[in-house]
Amino acid sequence: MNSVYVLSPQRAPLMPCRPVVARLLLKQGKAKVRRRTPFTIQLLAPPEQGYTQPLTHGVDTGSSVIGSTVADTMGKVFYLSEVQVRNDIAETMKERATKRRNRRARKTRYRSARWLNRRNSIKQGRFSPTMRSKIDAHLREIRFVQSLLPITSMVLETGTFDPHALKHPEVLHKKWLYQKGVNYGYANTKAYVLTRDGYTCQHCAGKSKDKRLEVHHLVFRSQNGSDEEANLLTLCKTCHDGLHAGTVTLKHTGKHKGDLRHATQMNSIRVQLLQRVEAEETWGFVTKEHRLLAGLPKEHMFDAVMIATRGKTPAFETTIVIKKRCIPDGDYQQTKGVRSEQRIPTGKLAGFRKFDTVRYKGQEYCIKGRMATGYAILMDIGGNKVDLKPIPKFSKMKRVSARSSWMMRQTTMPSSSSSLI
Ligand SMILES: [Zn+2]
Ligand SMILES: [Zn+2]
Repeated sequence: MNSVYVLSPQRAPLMPCRPVVARLLLKQGKAKVRRRTPFTIQLLAPPEQGYTQPLTHGVDTGSSVIGSTVADTMGKVFYLSEVQVRNDIAETMKERATKRRNRRARKTRYRSARWLNRRNSIKQGRFSPTMRSKIDAHLREIRFVQSLLPITSMVLETGTFDPHALKHPEVLHKKWLYQKGVNYGYANTKAYVLTRDGYTCQHCAGKSKDKRLEVHHLVFRSQNGSDEEANLLTLCKTCHDGLHAGTVTLKHTGKHKGDLRHATQMNSIRVQLLQRVEAEETWGFVTKEHRLLAGLPKEHMFDAVMIATRGKTPAFETTIVIKKRCIPDGDYQQTKGVRSEQRIPTGKLAGFRKFDTVRYKGQEYCIKGRMATGYAILMDIGGNKVDLKPIPKFSKMKRVSARSSWMMRQTTMPSSSSSLI
């Protein structure tokens, strides 16, 4: 089961159709192919009856992976995607600065050093290049979805816990996210405690290498210990089991903080997105409870499904997952050689550019490297080199799509979860 996306003659998105219908429309000459990944057709004449349904775009925001899905009010899912955002920007910029400093220190004709005169660094409301790239990746995905489907509302998951509801847990019961049998108040506090403790075991500070974190009641529940955050502590499973078995005694040596970089970035992304798009807000603890109720595996995509269906058990109308990976728009290094005498070709070589998507022997790859002798090194969407023997020739491959801000690949839903359909 798959969905084919349909556009009007003016390229406005319409409700998706089944592949059978799309094939018929194409055969009768009533539509043309607009896009191959994901498969999208454009009608040549306006449709007789414009039937649309309210569609919700659910976004699981993230500082490394964005989950994005579209569902209707019945819980039917029409679109599934995961976007990997760039996390290499700080590193590449540092590399550039080092090279530049090097050139200036050498006696070259390169312009001399400048000091603290960058307009950018004193600008108000400035974002670091990393943050700008991450915010843009979210907005790009939102625009992409809106160009394929007639979205009527959007729900963003912007953090793991709701800070307001910590003090006022009663607000959680008034919301649309209410589901029977879930104690949202405790789930929220638990998510908060994990964040407060920096996702680090407060006993061994991660020395046990146990990644499974649990929340322990200092005064046990059986002794009427409360569910408030002051009574809760993050422990890894190893330490927690040991504590209850009596082999470990809790030592209070102050709080161990984990890496808070991603949490800080996420907070910034959250504020910026809510300023730029009109959306409802939801939290990770709600999504997690709903995902567990629906029995879906722990993946960004499935979190996004539960966000888009607003907690309804999903019915998958499509099993195609669109994986995207954000890549740089250009190449920084332009030359090589001690005196930069050798230009690196960044344009086309035999009609191919780096990061172009090509079809080779029935499979889709991206170009990792090109050789003037007429060969290419190919990679998968993860950026890993694919070892092909003999080395692929340009003449044997066909360009499917040109380089853009992301590489896109169509995959099907993991088989472990297909039993749910
Ligand atoms: Zn531990
Ligand atoms: Zn415990």
